[in-house]
Amino acid sequence: MPCTCANVRRYRSDVTTRYRCAACGNLTRFDVVETTTVRSFYHFTVGGDLVVEESDVVASTVESVTCRWCGHGRDVEEIAETA
Ligand SMILES: [Zn+2]
Repeated sequence: MPCTCANVRRYRSDVTTRYRCAACGNLTRFDVVETTTVRSFYHFTVGGDLVVEESDVVASTVESVTCRWCGHGRDVEEIAETA
């Protein structure tokens, strides 16, 4: 299904989650604790030196989101981006 919304590609990720703090109205500053699983291509030289040539994030989980202004995440809610 083609999408004509110009805002969808604002971020590099295909799935964009924005946050809003209902307590103070903050839309821009959050501490996000995220667990990512990364697959990397390790290229060793014969001498044993390592060069990481590629890395892909294969999984990403947001553990917690904290409002920078309030210092807690009790009122932080996700904003659903509607295309
Ligand atoms: Zn806040």
